[in-house]
This record gives sequence, C-alpha cells and structure tokens, in this order.
Amino acid sequence: MGSRKPQIAMFPSWGMGHFLPFVEFAKRMSIHHGFAVLIITPPAVKADIRSLASSVPDIRFVDLSAPHLDSLPMTDLPTKFAAMEEYKGPLKDVLGSLKDEISAFVIDFFCAALIESSAALHNPTYVLSTDSASNLCLKFFYDTLDSQTTESLKDMDGPIYPIGPLIRSPDAVHGKSECLNWLDRQPDSSVMYVSFGSMNWFLSPDQTRELALGLEASGHRFLWLLKGDNDVSALLPPGFEMRTRDRGIVWTSWAPQIPILSHPATAGFVSHCGWNSTLESVTNGVPIVPWPVRAEQKTNAFFLVNEIGLGIEPEWGPNWWVGKDEVEKAVKELMEGEKGRKVSMRAAELKESARKALAAGGSSMDILAVVTAQWKKKAS
Ligand code: UDP
Repeated sequence: MGSRKPQIAMFPSWGMGHFLPFVEFAKRMSIHHGFAVLIITPPAVKADIRSLASSVPDIRFVDLSAPHLDSLPMTDLPTKFAAMEEYKGPLKDVLGSLKDEISAFVIDFFCAALIESSAALHNPTYVLSTDSASNLCLKFFYDTLDSQTTESLKDMDGPIYPIGPLIRSPDAVHGKSECLNWLDRQPDSSVMYVSFGSMNWFLSPDQTRELALGLEASGHRFLWLLKGDNDVSALLPPGFEMRTRDRGIVWTSWAPQIPILSHPATAGFVSHCGWNSTLESVTNGVPIVPWPVRAEQKTNAFFLVNEIGLGIEPEWGPNWWVGKDEVEKAVKELMEGEKGRKVSMRAAELKESARKALAAGGSSMDILAVVTAQWKKKAS
C-alpha cells in the first residue's frame, strides 16, 4: 500500500436530517480510520451547511450539477428525488475521473437510483441508512424476510452494519445562543423542549394553538421551537406569550438542539420523532412525548413507546388530533407522574448504552472497524 490515504466518496441527500449524519460519518471515517472523504453534492447544499465539516481537513466537497434540478427550490424535494436520473451521467463522470482512487461509494437511501452509476465503474457501493433499523426493515419488505428466515436481524450474515448513532456532540456546536442563556436560568430537569424538526413540519394552525394551550395549562416550563414563513405570533392564542413569559419561550430561528438536549434544565422532549431527534434524545438521556407528523416518524414513535419504553404518548383523537387536555396530561405525566419517573430512569439507562456503543471497543466502533478494514484492503 502506498503512502496515500485511502479515500471514499459519498453522496448525501439534501435535507438536514440526512445531511448531518453523513457529515458525522465522514468525520468518523477521517478521525478514527484515517480516510480522506469526498462529499459529492448538488450546489444547493450551501457553504454554511458545508462548514459543518470544516474542522476536518480530510473532508472535501465536489459540486455535482444538473441544471434542471439545481434551479428547483429546496422545498421541492419530491421532484428532485424523482428526477435522480438526471444526476446519473454527471455522477458517473465525477466517479470516473477518480479512476480507482476510491475504495467505496456511500450513498443516501433516497439517491439509490445512482447506485447504477457507481456499479458501472465497479465501485463497491453502500447505502448509509439515516433512519432507524426498524424502518430499514420495512423498506426491505420485512414480511417477506420474516417468512423466509427464523434468524433475528442481528444474526443475519452481513447485510447490515449498525454503526450509529451518527449525531453531533454538544461541543461541535459553536457559540452560545440566547435560548441556552435562558435555559441556564431554569432549575434542573424543569423544561419541556418542543420541536418538530428542521423542516418545521407544520401542525395546522388549530393544532398549533391547541398545543400552546396544553403547554400553558400544564404549568411547566417550556422551550418551543416554532418557525414559520410569517409572524409566528399569529399562530399562537391571543395573550399566550404574555401569560407564559415567566416560564416559557417560543424560539423562531435555528436552535442549538444538541446543547439544549444535553442541558441539565431539559427534562423532556415533545418531538416529531425524526430519527436524528430521536437519537439525540436517547444519547442525551431525555424522555420523549412522541408527536409524529409524517414519513417514518410514526414507526419511530411506536418503538419509543412500545419497545424501548422511552416515550409517553398523548391520547390521539381522530386524524391524529391532540386536544389541549391531552397535551397537558402528557406533559404533566412526563414531568411529575409515575410513568414519567419510569421513562426518565429508562432514558438514563439508554444514554449509558449509547455512550458504551460509541466508546472505543463499543459495538458501533467495532462494526465500523470491520467495514473500514475491508475498504482499506481494497485501497492497498
Ligand atoms: N435541528 C437543529 N436545530 C433546529 C432544527 C433542527 O439543530 O432548529 C437539527 C436536529 O438536531 C436534528 C436535525 O436538525 O439533528 C433534524 O433531523 P430529524 O431527523 O430529527 O428531523 P427532520 O428535520 O429530518 O424531519
């Protein structure tokens, strides 16, 4: 093997919930396994997002342009994914120009159509799944698998490498935001953090008001991430901010979610159960009131409540409506009830398991070492 570092190329997808774990994976490959990493992205992934990887010199970005897709707004993700065909040619050119310099190509599930471009060049191609293993099972039609094998997923021979959680550490987030200063002034384990993710998956205006009234009626402290194209005050019940100003804030810009979840004042998380938010809550030992809105979030919520005992579900009405009384009840149960005590204890256990998995000699690190050993062998 020469002195050149082994190198891999990656193609993440656009949304932050997908992009962030790819960057964490690239950092891990570089810092722990000595790889150089090339992240191939559409120009729509802007400099401020790319700067998330700037602390690691071995991570480089390469633009991949497809004029028709580049001109679509970021909000038009479904069309972009549907039009993946347009990236096939440009991607093959980029990968082809690297000749045999890369040991593996790692791609987001949404971009699976591009596997063909890589396979044509005989690059081993891997899908980095940024959602839960259970959801991955669904994608692989687990009913069919289930009927054909008596093995557990974890005993199956090499199809899947559980290398997560791929999330940022609190010290990777720079600068202190005013909402953290506010948290500093709150007592330990007293605040409910409320967020519906990076795209701010909207609840309807009626449902948003109902959530506000429930938070208010609970009497507990809250930090609520509520972003909108227009003035968010219009979404809140009249007088809400004034009545709750001593114990709650509504935060309307990008929030430092990891420092919030790792802050001693944070006791619980009303979450849409995006997979990153779920993992960030687990690794920081914060129990969840699950409020899934779309995509695989309902599966995540089901597992949080029924399988790992980390969640207290609000009572759902028709069409996933949650009345203010149910919001109040779920928040109170988590903050002061017997179930809340149990999920908080469970959260502390899971935090410890996640720490062990990610530590040297932990399952996550060991499994990644197995994969990277194969890739290094190819590079040599
Ligand atoms: N996030 C953040 N600040 C915000 C909103 C979101 O740091 O104001 C981060 C959050 O920590 C998580 C990601 O954005 O890492 C959201 O991913 P997730 O899978 O939870 O949800 P999605 O946004 O993909 O629905």
